[in-house]
Amino acid sequence: MSMSLRMARAAAVLVVAVAAASAHYTVKPGDTLAAIATDNEVSVTDLAAANGISDSNRIRIGQQLVLPSDVSPASASVANEGGYHWVEPGESLDAIASRHGISVEMLAAANGITDPSALYAGTRLRLSGSAFVAGPVSGETTYMVASGDSLGWIAALHGTTVAALATLNDIHDPNQISVGARLRVPSASWVCPVAGASYFNDWGFLRSGGRTHEGTDLFASRGTEVKAPVGGTVEQLHGQVGGFQFRLYGDDGHLYLGSHMDSAGQDGRVTAGAVIGFVGDSGNAVGSRPHLHFEIHPNGGPAANPYPSLEANGC
Ligand SMILES: [Zn+2]
Repeated sequence: MSMSLRMARAAAVLVVAVAAASAHYTVKPGDTLAAIATDNEVSVTDLAAANGISDSNRIRIGQQLVLPSDVSPASASVANEGGYHWVEPGESLDAIASRHGISVEMLAAANGITDPSALYAGTRLRLSGSAFVAGPVSGETTYMVASGDSLGWIAALHGTTVAALATLNDIHDPNQISVGARLRVPSASWVCPVAGASYFNDWGFLRSGGRTHEGTDLFASRGTEVKAPVGGTVEQLHGQVGGFQFRLYGDDGHLYLGSHMDSAGQDGRVTAGAVIGFVGDSGNAVGSRPHLHFEIHPNGGPAANPYPSLEANGC
């Protein structure tokens, strides 16, 4: 992509900055200014400035911080209506299920919860439906050999190996493939976007302005490779909120987004596992613990909780 086109696209995704009205946050044990900033999607700089804090290491438990945001978060009691439940401190999955007259199994399935003990206050739970899981496309696809193709290139294109292709197609000499031949191609595996990342089910956490967290934060050290979970087409973007971001239009039909990267990786056509960026703290996450904010939009629609997909694919 040309530099000017890249810049034009970056300008197009700039998100309107939040207005000046304010909400408050009370500092709890273990909080850091960076964590509070991340949780509320404000920059550490803005948060420090809004509270006259000159040393970001000096906040005290019980201190009231002004959150520079547009609308104050809806209270949990107001939010516990409709098809959702916001988890309050100390609530168990059992208690929530019985309160809403549904089974624990149903509640767990609707939210992709694999470990009921790891339930966090502030999580927004869906009360019905089933969790979305993105995974390897089942079965096989086919590929017609074009002029100039090698088996190695075809394997790389589909996130598989020469050996796997040779076995599946009964090829004895990998150098002998004919143009026009239709090869059977095994489905590629789903690659973890950040290998070895630490994460939990932080989908639906309440954010400033009544918004909720629409992804999973994958924490890893700065510079860790960010990989395409599936093959597809990548656009690299840059915005004030998301910093360095990728949009991956997956061959599986789903849209994958990542933000707060330190820098961009490959763009254009990529295979599963291609390095499409590096973990960082860019955008409004500057100064926070480096992580990739990761989203999955099934079929390009609204975001779904990525947690079940990450778990199902062994991340
Ligand atoms: Zn996030």
